[in-house]
Amino acid sequence: MNEFSYLFLFFLACSVSLKLWLNKRQTNHILRHRGQVPSDFEGKIELSAHQKAADYTVAKTYIATLSTLLSSAILIILTLGGGINILLSLVQTYVASELWAGVTLMLSVFIISHFIELPIEIYQTFKIEQKFGFNRTTTGQFIKDQLLQLALMLIIGSPLIYALLWVMGEMGNYWWLYAGVFTVSFTFFMTWLVPTIIAPLFNKFTPLEDEHLKSKIQHLFERCGFNSKGIYVMDGSRRSGHGNAYFTGIGNNKRIVFYDTLIESLNADEVEAVLAHELGHFKCKHVSRQMVVSSLMTLVAFAILGWLKQQNWFFDGLGAAQINNASALLLFLLITPIFSTFIHPISSYYQRKFEFEADAFASTMSKPEFLIQALVKLYRENASTLTPDPLYSSFHHSHPPAGVRIDHLKGLEKC
Ligand SMILES: [Zn+2]
Repeated sequence: MNEFSYLFLFFLACSVSLKLWLNKRQTNHILRHRGQVPSDFEGKIELSAHQKAADYTVAKTYIATLSTLLSSAILIILTLGGGINILLSLVQTYVASELWAGVTLMLSVFIISHFIELPIEIYQTFKIEQKFGFNRTTTGQFIKDQLLQLALMLIIGSPLIYALLWVMGEMGNYWWLYAGVFTVSFTFFMTWLVPTIIAPLFNKFTPLEDEHLKSKIQHLFERCGFNSKGIYVMDGSRRSGHGNAYFTGIGNNKRIVFYDTLIESLNADEVEAVLAHELGHFKCKHVSRQMVVSSLMTLVAFAILGWLKQQNWFFDGLGAAQINNASALLLFLLITPIFSTFIHPISSYYQRKFEFEADAFASTMSKPEFLIQALVKLYRENASTLTPDPLYSSFHHSHPPAGVRIDHLKGLEKC
């Protein structure tokens, strides 16, 4: 233990208390407003649906609290509790190569942590989601998904970690620059690869077939000057009743994906409005701007790691008995989320700003009233709360609260 240990514990305690306090505020706020549908939504959302959303959100917030506490306990056991040291000496007795020992150590830490947290995921899927009528995953499907995730982690994770550890050891003083550029390129490659190779391992994607909807969308593309034939419907209903739409991929692999559950619940005008919103993110360059920012942050993170790797107090302070590249990378990855908690509100702020811009774009390409109708339906069907705690929402949510967003859309309707 040294001063850095106390600093680490202090930030961990601050980050955990902040999250728990916000969760508590969120729960209290929702329960206080459980008795009445907000006036903006009267007649559109029934009291029973509003109360279901309240109970569902409270249950999910409770799970989030459990998960925060458990992952903090795991973090302390791994670092100051000596968990990483025990694993490393175990790995070193079986794996002679230093590089492969590093890869094995890192993968075992990720896999063990995942298994410790698995009961929470099981509870969330088979208790909470089940209780509120969203779960459609069977035990067989759940196990299959877990094995597939594990296989992907080994297939993609091993060479990636191996390459990073190699760069750290072999590329001299500026290794962090090479490692940063490599990681950014790898991320771009994965973003390109995911829609066509990885995502289809989990779900079935079929090109949109509905002719009426398709021609509507084709016209929308022409109005927006957007070039893509990649509109797909995903069988989201295989696992869950939640509906959504998203934009994915880069370059010639970009796609717009609708969950089948969304297509079922919205009419053609509403789907068009949702799509116009998604295109807004593309047209306003939100996607590319987010990629630039995250690339820069990756480079900064590696520069910090480059400096920390040379500081003995960093290893001592986090309880590491051996100073090596794998420990440095692992410790850095484990503790970064604590410190990034405090910049989370900044990214939420920008994401909400982007949502307003995409809504404004959608209003010029479709009609605000259609987007409002779609949002109300999506809020009702996903049992999303209409009354989040304002502070909790501004900290965590990438989307503005329903009421705020709809008021903004109504303002656009007038002009
Ligand atoms: Zn959006």
